[in-house]
Amino acid sequence: MSAPSLNLGQQPELLDRSKGITIVAGPCSAESEEQVLQTARAIDQIPQVSIFRAGIWKPRTRPNSFEGVGVDGLRWLQRVQKETRLKTAVEVAKASHVYESLKFGVDILWVGARTTANPFSVQEIADALRGADIQVWVKNPVNPDLQLWIGALERLNQAGITRLAAIHRGFTAQERTPYRNVPNWQIPIDLKRLLPDLPIICDPSHISGQTDYLSELSQKALDLAMNGIMLETHIDPENAWSDAKQQIRPETLKELISGLHLRKLENGAAPDSALERLRHESNAIDYELLEILARRMQVVEQIGLYKKDHDMTVLQVQRWKQVIEDRLQKGTKLGLDGQFVQDIYEILHAYAIKIQSDVIND
Ligand code: PEP
Ligand code: MN
Repeated sequence: MSAPSLNLGQQPELLDRSKGITIVAGPCSAESEEQVLQTARAIDQIPQVSIFRAGIWKPRTRPNSFEGVGVDGLRWLQRVQKETRLKTAVEVAKASHVYESLKFGVDILWVGARTTANPFSVQEIADALRGADIQVWVKNPVNPDLQLWIGALERLNQAGITRLAAIHRGFTAQERTPYRNVPNWQIPIDLKRLLPDLPIICDPSHISGQTDYLSELSQKALDLAMNGIMLETHIDPENAWSDAKQQIRPETLKELISGLHLRKLENGAAPDSALERLRHESNAIDYELLEILARRMQVVEQIGLYKKDHDMTVLQVQRWKQVIEDRLQKGTKLGLDGQFVQDIYEILHAYAIKIQSDVIND
C-alpha cells in the first residue's frame, strides 16, 4: 500500500499546537434557539474555547428518535456567530447537508464516525465540497480501521479541501469496556506518524459515553501531542435530546479546562541533556534487542527442521503452554507488566508458527 500523503496547505492558526490547544464545545444536538444561544453565551465566557459545535442532522442508531432540527438550527448558529466570538462547526453526512451549511456560512464541517466508514458517502460529501474554501474535520470510522480514516481524508483532499483535521472519537469494541467507544490510542498515534502535519482533535465525550472519564481522557490527548479537544457541553445536560449521559454544563467545562496541564511538544534537548543520553541508551538497547530477536528466529527455524525430520506437528500445545507460563512468571518477577509479556510472546509464537509452517512444507 502506498504511503499516504495529503496536500495540507496553510493550516488554520487555531490548530497550531505550538500556540496552544484548540477547544471545541457545544451540545450534541441543537434543540431550540434558546438552548443553542444560552449554551453558546455561557461557553463564550470561557476564553480557551474558540469553536462552538452543534449537531443539526443527527445519525441515530434506531429510527423514530430525534433526528436533528435541520436547517432551522443553521439560522441559530448564524446568531451564535453574530453574538459571540465563537466559530461554528456542524456534522455533514450527505451532499444536501454540505450545500445548506455552506449557504448559511458555517465555519467548519465535520464528517461523523458512521459516515467515515462509508466511502460512497464520503465521496458524495467530497464532490459537494469541490471548490469550497472551508475547514473540514474527519472523525475516525466506528471500526478500528486506520486506512479507512486516511481514505476519507484523501477523498476530501482530492476534492481540493486542504484545511483538514482528524477527530479521534474512539472505536466500537466487541468486548465490554468501561468506555462507550474504546480509545485504541495506537491508531491516532499511527495516524500522526504517517501524516505528521495533520492536526488531530480528541473527542473524549464520545469515547467515554458518560461524564466520568472526561478529564483523564482530555489530559491523555494533550500528553499525546494532540491539537485539541472537543467536549459536548449543554446548558441542561439531564434533559438533552441526545447523548444526555455524556454532556457537561459550561461551568463543569470551565473547571475541567482549568485542571488540564499543557506540556511542551519538544524541549529542544541539547545533545548532552539527560533526555538525549537516555534516548541514546534506549537506541542501543533496541539494537541489542533486534540482534537477540534475529538469533531467536534462527533457532526457531532449526527447531522447524527438527520437527520436519521427525514428522512432528508445528504446534506443540504442551510446550507452548509451558513457555507462556514460564515467561509470564519470569517477566513479572523482573517488574514487567503481565499483559505486556503475554502480548510479546503471542506475537513471537505466531511468527514462530509461520516460519516453521514454511520450513515443514518446503
Ligand atoms: C456527535 O459528534 O454528536 C456524533 C454523532 O459523533 P460520532 O460521529 O463520533 O458518533
Ligand atoms: Mn453526540
